[in-house]
Amino acid sequence: MNAPVNTKPRGRQFFNNPGPTNIPDRILRAMDRPVMDFLAPEFLEIHRACTAGIKRILKTDQEVFFHASTGHGAWEAAVANLFSPGETVLVIETGYFSLGWKEMAEALGLKVEVVQADWRKGVDISKLAERLAKDKAHEIKAVLAVHNETATGMVLPLAEVRRAIDEARHPAMLLSDTISSLGSMEYKMDAWGIDVTVGGSQKGLMLPTGMAITGVSAKALEASRKSKLPKYYFNWELMAVRKPQRFIGTVPVHFFFGLQESIKMLEEEGLDAVFQRHARLADATRAAVRVWGDGGKGPQLFGQTEERLSNSVTTITMPEGHTSDTMRKVALERFNLSLGGGLGPLMGKVFRIGHLGDLNEPMLLGCLATTELAMKTAGVPFAPGGVDAAIKSLAN
Ligand code: PLP
Repeated sequence: MNAPVNTKPRGRQFFNNPGPTNIPDRILRAMDRPVMDFLAPEFLEIHRACTAGIKRILKTDQEVFFHASTGHGAWEAAVANLFSPGETVLVIETGYFSLGWKEMAEALGLKVEVVQADWRKGVDISKLAERLAKDKAHEIKAVLAVHNETATGMVLPLAEVRRAIDEARHPAMLLSDTISSLGSMEYKMDAWGIDVTVGGSQKGLMLPTGMAITGVSAKALEASRKSKLPKYYFNWELMAVRKPQRFIGTVPVHFFFGLQESIKMLEEEGLDAVFQRHARLADATRAAVRVWGDGGKGPQLFGQTEERLSNSVTTITMPEGHTSDTMRKVALERFNLSLGGGLGPLMGKVFRIGHLGDLNEPMLLGCLATTELAMKTAGVPFAPGGVDAAIKSLAN
């Protein structure tokens, strides 16, 4: 720790947070244009193209609403539009964000039950099936699920969740948060029987923070007509009749300029190729962490269920006696590398490497090498060779 601290970092910051993510120059340039009347035919065409593109990415033929808000707004829209005060929903515990959605649903007046789970292992889906089978009166109106839990770096298999609901012959709707999987991991809204999908702009779509997306099934739209929770800005019925773009208030046209470019980039690469790139980068990251782990003495993968490890973010547990925030501070202040921290009870105990969005092999290797450098500088024990393992994984 004797070298002088880099007070004026040069070069681009290596940004490996799991959201917001790097905004590609192409998107920045697409947004760098004069404003346009949101009722002009030219804008209506851009809006139409964005809606069609988002439906292709969500793999849905159903409704889509855009909100000028972060993901929390789309969470709120889903809850406020579907339910009435005192109704019951079931949250599948995956980690910090699942409990955040629970807290919001309670604040809005719902009764919330939780299917509890070990954050490192992921939920046992048979527990969901058991709870639904017991609910003979169908008091549970919906299951709320976070597809990719950004706090733990673990995925929830939504097709299995859908199967559990169907096998219990339960009419509950399935609401899914795809905020950190949209545009980076496979997602099939209609095939998986998702009634509401909640997404955000600042992760796999590579856009600035501030636009949220909600995919809504015909069944959810029908339920929204009976809902009695108060709502206005997020009211889908009102939105549907306000302006051709289904928006209350001024339409943020620049977001749509950026979104149109984002969809173009994702489709030029090909969605499957985008997902495979994320899988390759995730595999390489995990290969590095496994070497660093040094048989339990160094940092370890937080997730312990191999097939549920996320392809967009890796959460890494610090070795005993070391706090992640000290190492992250060194990474940021000395080496201009931004890593994600631990959330909620994981604060200080883990760090997170986001490998989603506009990212390639050199960017990831830069991040992994600099993480090693920061760990060495901060005195965190780890076995060397993580970057070599990542190179080996990427060269396959
Ligand atoms: N859900 C998940 C899985 C997230 O990762 C996040 C943010 O990181 C949120 C919800 C909240 O979204 P926002 O910060 O855009 O409000």
